[in-house]
Amino acid sequence: MAGDHDATEILKPLVFRLHENAPAVVREVLLERGWTEFDKKEQGDRDWNLYWRSSPFRMTDYCSIKPWQRLNHYPEAVRITRKDYLVRHLKRMKGAYGSALYEFSPVAFIMPNDYVKFVAEYSKEKQSPGRRSSYWICKPVDLSRGRGILIFQDIKDFAYDCTVIVQKYISNPLLISGYKLDLRLYVCVTSFCPLTIYTYEEGLVRFATEKFDLGSLDNVYSHLTNTSINKYGASYKKYKEGIGHGCKWTFSKFRSYLRIYGVDDLLLWKKINNIVMLTLLAVTPLPAASNCFELFGFDILIDDKFKPWLLEVNYNPALCLDCSIDATVKRKLLHDIVELLNYKQIDALRQNQAAGTKAGRTHVSLRTPGKSALEEAPGFLSCQGEAEYTAVSSVQSALQAAKGSILKANQTKKTARGHPRKTLTSQLRERMNMTKTSSQAKAETRSKQLPGAVHSPQQFVPPSCWLPTPNFWNCKLTTLPYFLSEKDQRPIPRVGDFVLIFPFNEAALQASRGAINVKSIIQEINKLVIKQFPSKQMKTKKRVDYLASM
Ligand code: ADP
Repeated sequence: MAGDHDATEILKPLVFRLHENAPAVVREVLLERGWTEFDKKEQGDRDWNLYWRSSPFRMTDYCSIKPWQRLNHYPEAVRITRKDYLVRHLKRMKGAYGSALYEFSPVAFIMPNDYVKFVAEYSKEKQSPGRRSSYWICKPVDLSRGRGILIFQDIKDFAYDCTVIVQKYISNPLLISGYKLDLRLYVCVTSFCPLTIYTYEEGLVRFATEKFDLGSLDNVYSHLTNTSINKYGASYKKYKEGIGHGCKWTFSKFRSYLRIYGVDDLLLWKKINNIVMLTLLAVTPLPAASNCFELFGFDILIDDKFKPWLLEVNYNPALCLDCSIDATVKRKLLHDIVELLNYKQIDALRQNQAAGTKAGRTHVSLRTPGKSALEEAPGFLSCQGEAEYTAVSSVQSALQAAKGSILKANQTKKTARGHPRKTLTSQLRERMNMTKTSSQAKAETRSKQLPGAVHSPQQFVPPSCWLPTPNFWNCKLTTLPYFLSEKDQRPIPRVGDFVLIFPFNEAALQASRGAINVKSIIQEINKLVIKQFPSKQMKTKKRVDYLASM
């Protein structure tokens, strides 16, 4: 029985699988945590816990996902990460819910389709007496890292040869010692259905390496904050007064800087969180898929009035380590992501949690199109329709193993759980770093058995439910989604530096279940804004009233 086993036997390492081009730091961090790398020749197709790719997964990867596995992309997450898609979605939201709420993205046009509209806007400004004409930034829709960007004021300097967006250039950015900066904010969505969003409290402030100067629009080192550009600038390595060497700060340093100057950094943070929620709402619903997560890189520019602007959302935010600040922030970020993935001891077995048999169970990650998850399975967990089947012959032996695990979990359940939570991988990491004798190590490992060592007993279903089912789509949900706490079946409020920002209250949670009710969520966000920014109260109140009347 599992309860009688030596703890070291139970703590099998978790296995990661990396696709080519996956960032090296992902491998480093996972090895550091005691994981092992998937070996195609030695291991079965399903014998892994985390698959990390830089490109999207195939639909079959989502369909064959197992309870012990996680994928680092959500299907169709690119809907907000391509610049033109983002523009389109935000425009639609502005149209539906009012520009006041969605005023955080600079006005933008998609070329060539919107050329006439752009020229009309440009001409209107030119003809307004006393109005200084705007600056514009032109960005190819499917390029990144500052490639192909052009900034102009006069339309005669505007030329393009591929699909681009032309966006109002924020010409009054917040400057520190004369240098422009923007924020790279990490956002992790552990589920789009129900919507579950975490923002990372630590992050990167990225500086341009030459002083901001509207007189030299073609100087990329003055106007673009991409590290991929600035690291090749002549001033990158030099000491820059007020900034230091290189081109990065951490958020912590930036917050301290703001506080010194009496700026309310918490207020700024709240505004940024609102931007994140409103942006992600713009792409919902995405096809439901279980056991996935998406790490987005939100680029936020702050202007000289401390208003945050969303510039773009990045798929696969860069995880290369260009400097020591990168190493500190990104390594911790990855550790916290693994914690957020909430692996349990039983996941290391890579077996059917209930049946204890390898590859016995299939999570079906797609819902019947057009049918709300609420209809399929009422309750908070309703979104993840699953079908399961298990080889009948293995059921009995599997039950024995599962019973042992349940017993173990129940014995340890009363242990208090602090933050960051102890997880299998953190235990493994600790074990790797231990210099104690093996008997000491064993005793300690036993005493650290996780309260949530197995998925909770109420998830176990009679063996008949594990049999293949002819109706794949209408099967009952039997496994708690990984992003919910076992205690209250709600998202965990904080994991490491990840802070849950959505759902932020019960009403938002209810509205994001099943067929997501965007209008209700927007109403809740409006109420939140009233509380957060009382000075905006009247304006926002009108908006709430307006929405309520829709
Ligand atoms: P890329 O995907 O090529 O990095 P971004 O949209 O992130 O494209 O733009 C690159 C950089 O250009 C940003 O980091 C920022 O410094 C600057 N930038 C982009 N859009 C604007 C804008 N509307 N106003 C001011 N600066 C901008």
